[in-house]
Amino acid sequence: MKKTVVLGAGGFIGTHLVRRLKREGCYVVGADLKRPDFCDSEADEFVIGDLREYDFVSRVIPDNVDEVYQLAADMGGAGYVFTGDHDADIMYNSAAINLNVAKISVEKQVRALFYASSACIYPEYNQQDPLNPKCGEDTAYPALPDSEYGWEKLFSERLYINFNKNYGLNVKIGRLHNVYGELGVWEGGKEKAPAALCRKIVQADNGDIVAIWGDGEQTRTFLYIDDCLDAISKLIRSSFLGPYNIGSEEIISINQLAGIIAETAKKEVVFMHEKGPEGVRGRTSDNCFITRDLNWSPGISLREGIEKLYHWVEKMNQRKQESKRE
Ligand code: NAD
Repeated sequence: MKKTVVLGAGGFIGTHLVRRLKREGCYVVGADLKRPDFCDSEADEFVIGDLREYDFVSRVIPDNVDEVYQLAADMGGAGYVFTGDHDADIMYNSAAINLNVAKISVEKQVRALFYASSACIYPEYNQQDPLNPKCGEDTAYPALPDSEYGWEKLFSERLYINFNKNYGLNVKIGRLHNVYGELGVWEGGKEKAPAALCRKIVQADNGDIVAIWGDGEQTRTFLYIDDCLDAISKLIRSSFLGPYNIGSEEIISINQLAGIIAETAKKEVVFMHEKGPEGVRGRTSDNCFITRDLNWSPGISLREGIEKLYHWVEKMNQRKQESKRE
């Protein structure tokens, strides 16, 4: 039986990944500061603790484990990452985790390690035209990420690459681009655009005003969780280090995304633009390298994925209303 460890197993991607690994027949140890927010974890062992602590990481990663997935990070949507209020914590917390994981993975002779980097590492100067952003893997340098979150991811990519170079650590790096789906944060400030807009539209009646941050012409792509897991599993079991983009190439503006969600909801709402953290003007994944090397590309369209997310947010919202009434 393959032995695996998922760091950040209480988070959005971690919860889904644990489920997937269990379905594949793996033994899974999950570690996180907290348990999953919306369901029980399916991990064989779930260890609560702080991965910034060396001893905790050392306890969680056994000798000669087959696969370690490093997903733990201090992160959130634009409302958390782009305000500047959390920059010191974001950099310190995530870097501390990655420093521990890199060193201990070598000590424990981890057979394969996946590191979740981000599209946020790409330089701001290549993402100013919403219709023509450049995010090929080889455009990362000269570096100029637009957030400290992106700088930390770039630092940790380099950390792992150098542990590969000097200590032979078998690491694989994926730069994830806006992953969305059920079981993610949908309220409270750390949610991303798809879940935030689903929530706003779920809570709106016909004719209500729904706020969009900025002019809504900023473009993005969104990757449904199942496609993301397929890419991660192909990458960790490949002979390639990366970094590879793991994203969708279906580029749309935030206004268009909001329109798709309103159509899914079958609601006539009025969109209003307000000042808010926006990030870069345009961003898309460039999947040339991952398609060439791993034969991976996303299979689930944005409309299909949004349909699933919308109905899940609707259910969560209903549950919340019911519990308030009790
Ligand atoms: P998430 O916030 O839901 O999960 C991260 C988990 O890490 C959380 O459960 C958190 O409690 C845990 N964590 C944070 N600090 C910890 C600590 N000190 N000790 C133990 N656990 C700690 O995020 P996610 O969406 O599941 O993302 C997973 C990874 O993928 C992250 O590294 C993120 O930066 C990266 N990523 C995600 C996206 C996306 O769109 N979801 C995009 C790019 C990159």
